[in-house]
Amino acid sequence: MFEDTHDEHVLLTPGPTPIHPRAQRALIRGMLGHMDPEVFALNREIQQDLRVMYGTGPEAFTALLSGTGSLGMEAGFANLLEAGDEVLVCANGSFGQRMAEMAARYGARVRLVTAPLGEAINPADVAAQLSERVAMVAVVHGETSTGVLNPVPDIARLVRGSGALLTVDAVTTAGMEPFFMQGWGVDYAYTGAQKCLSAPPGLAPVAISERAFTRFAARRTPTPLWYCDFDGLRDYWTDHTYHHTVPVNLHFAFHAALRAALEEGLERRQDRVRRMGEVIERTLAPLGFSPYVRRAEDRLPTVLALRLPEGFDDAGVRQALRGREISVTGGLGPTAGVIWRLGLMGEAARPAPYRQLMVALEDLLG
Ligand code: PLP
Repeated sequence: MFEDTHDEHVLLTPGPTPIHPRAQRALIRGMLGHMDPEVFALNREIQQDLRVMYGTGPEAFTALLSGTGSLGMEAGFANLLEAGDEVLVCANGSFGQRMAEMAARYGARVRLVTAPLGEAINPADVAAQLSERVAMVAVVHGETSTGVLNPVPDIARLVRGSGALLTVDAVTTAGMEPFFMQGWGVDYAYTGAQKCLSAPPGLAPVAISERAFTRFAARRTPTPLWYCDFDGLRDYWTDHTYHHTVPVNLHFAFHAALRAALEEGLERRQDRVRRMGEVIERTLAPLGFSPYVRRAEDRLPTVLALRLPEGFDDAGVRQALRGREISVTGGLGPTAGVIWRLGLMGEAARPAPYRQLMVALEDLLG
């Protein structure tokens, strides 16, 4: 039975993250129509703030898709690939695999660039497979399933001269880690509202380069995913004509959360997550937790992947924590029972909730 008693719940998962108080307040605003001039004004502000968050040029197209991060992923492949196109997918975890599966469903010929679990993609392996036949390179910036940060700037440098588009999954990075869409040369980026921005789930903020729009305009066939056709997006976000009913209340909350992030400052947020990560790692070390990702430069600061102590009762401890209103997440697939993934995105990266975790762990394990 669902019990409405979780106002004080301590959510330390790799998403969703605790909702930002300003986003929570914005959710209860009275409803406006999705075609209301004030909603279009709000959307314009969101688009402008997203340009800042993604580090795009001043004219880049940004928007919110009405769906979660996976819709952001799907929209990129649906609009920017056609059946038979060759795509290089960097797959060193579950979300890279998801990219490969989606691209294949849209008829792309997928080639994988892999790395062992817990290691970052080696740009030399991308270079080895890159040719003028490749229409797109796709990479997950922060691989949530293993806590690995992939070297997007280095991969982007290779892709830039190749004629391929570069799609980057910024789900665990945008808004909390350095991200320079224009400076790096990224063509399509997406995230999920519920991750680094601590807005409610249900929106996928995307940024699309001019180069991507040029490729889109040259399609021989219509985009097979009607809901997120780039033309449909422009109808609503640029021309203010009806496409579908956007979730207006989620837009209110997202606007508030993104504003709060930019007011805090992107660099200050990057510092916050790094400092929190270091302290948590040091505090948990005496209990037997150690970093899962071997090379320090490959560690994703926003999702702390920690190897569990010998003989640790993963499921039992997490269940006991849940009984105390604290949620932490274990591994995914091959890392289940091997690691914990502690979320440090958005409002999770604060001392208060982690103090509660430390006290509870001391009590349970000490
Ligand atoms: N990509 C990455 C790196 C993720 O971590 C996630 C979700 O955790 C997704 C994509 C999918 O996002 P969603 O669950 O919002 O659809």
